[in-house]
Amino acid sequence: MTSHSVDPSTLAEQLPAGVLVTDPDILAGYRHDRAFDPDAAVPLALVRATSTADVQTTLRWAHENRVPVVPRGAGTSLSGGSGGLADGIVLSTEKMRDIKIDPATRTAVAQPGLLNAEVKAAAAEHDLWYPPDPSSFEICSIGGNAATNAGGLCCVKYGVTSDYVLGLEVVLADGTAVRLGGPRLKDVAGLSLTKLFVGSEGTLGVITEVTLRLIPPQPPASTMVATFGSVEAAADAVIAITATLRPAMLEFMDRTTINAVEDALRMDLDRGAEAMLIARSDAPGVAAAHEIEVMVRACRDAGAHDVFDTSDPDEGDAFAAARRMAIPAVERLGSLLLEDVGVPLPMLPTLVAGVAEIATAMR
Ligand SMILES: Cc1cc2nc3c(=O)[nH]c(=O)nc-3n(C[C@H](O)[C@H](O)[C@H](O)COP(=O)(O)OP(=O)(O)OC[C@H]3O[C@@H](n4cnc5c(N)ncnc54)[C@H](O)[C@@H]3O)c2cc1C
Repeated sequence: MTSHSVDPSTLAEQLPAGVLVTDPDILAGYRHDRAFDPDAAVPLALVRATSTADVQTTLRWAHENRVPVVPRGAGTSLSGGSGGLADGIVLSTEKMRDIKIDPATRTAVAQPGLLNAEVKAAAAEHDLWYPPDPSSFEICSIGGNAATNAGGLCCVKYGVTSDYVLGLEVVLADGTAVRLGGPRLKDVAGLSLTKLFVGSEGTLGVITEVTLRLIPPQPPASTMVATFGSVEAAADAVIAITATLRPAMLEFMDRTTINAVEDALRMDLDRGAEAMLIARSDAPGVAAAHEIEVMVRACRDAGAHDVFDTSDPDEGDAFAAARRMAIPAVERLGSLLLEDVGVPLPMLPTLVAGVAEIATAMR
């Protein structure tokens, strides 16, 4: 039996009212994620799960009826992972938005649909910090972050999502819910199934709860910005900096990106520069000034045209915001091909064939 012959109303009967959506206008909004893959299709139905039980019911039904399921958080994937399938169900976690913070153990237990920025804000209410900060932090979900092992601007010093996920509740393809890891740092006995799930992009199951490690907040950062006449010179500076210290942020933009961001933000970036580095130090007290000094020297030694530094956090934030703007700004120039993110499994043969073709052409 192909899934085309399956009637999703038999699933609707098993879910709370309104959880299953078949309105074509609403379904159309779940065709694409941010990768805008032309092969993505309007799904057969949408489930907006409100609980782990809804996810279990949906996966059990899909398993029995051989219907493919695409888990979806906020749909900001740049690799097409949350786009729809014509004969499949999109299982959205957008309505699962609870969070509990335990300041005593410095942990958060969050449902997957909460946005990364909302997790940060909830932690901040207890004077705690959830570090991972993908550039999309205001629009992506914590479940999506765990599913993609999202990194971000501060990952050079503070690590990526997997460094903060202590435990998970996941629902497997047959509808079974399991708990992996737990709230204690030492909840690691046995094979690290938690690590296996983080970054598995929905291929192993649906994440319905995430237990996160929180840390004390980051001190205000000082910032350095340097522009270069070549990408190689900027790369030399990066190598010199990272050989000496671990900045709180070390981000690169090439000429195309600098110009695209300048078009979008008009903040007087150097349009003629071939490369720009933005680095930050959040070392305590005078150590920050020392780290900035080391980074300024490394950039000058590598031949930077211009080096600017500031201890004003707002001024520094403006440059971090410029870097976060890179993808939306470059997207305005046309189709965007990104190469640092996972590849959806159906695209893998095409990718491998493409790489083989390029390799042959280069011989
Ligand atoms: C402007 C912009 C900037 C970005 N910057 C960064 C960046 O700096 N670093 C970075 O890593 N990424 C970045 N991204 C990519 C994207 O935001 C991240 O991958 C993010 O983690 C995806 O979260 P989401 O909630 O949108 O997930 P979705 O796009 O909804 O899903 C992503 C993948 O995870 C799966 N998934 C989602 N939720 C679950 C769940 N609960 N259980 C199991 N599987 C699930 C989906 O099936 C899909 O494969 C950026 C994207 C944009 C548009």
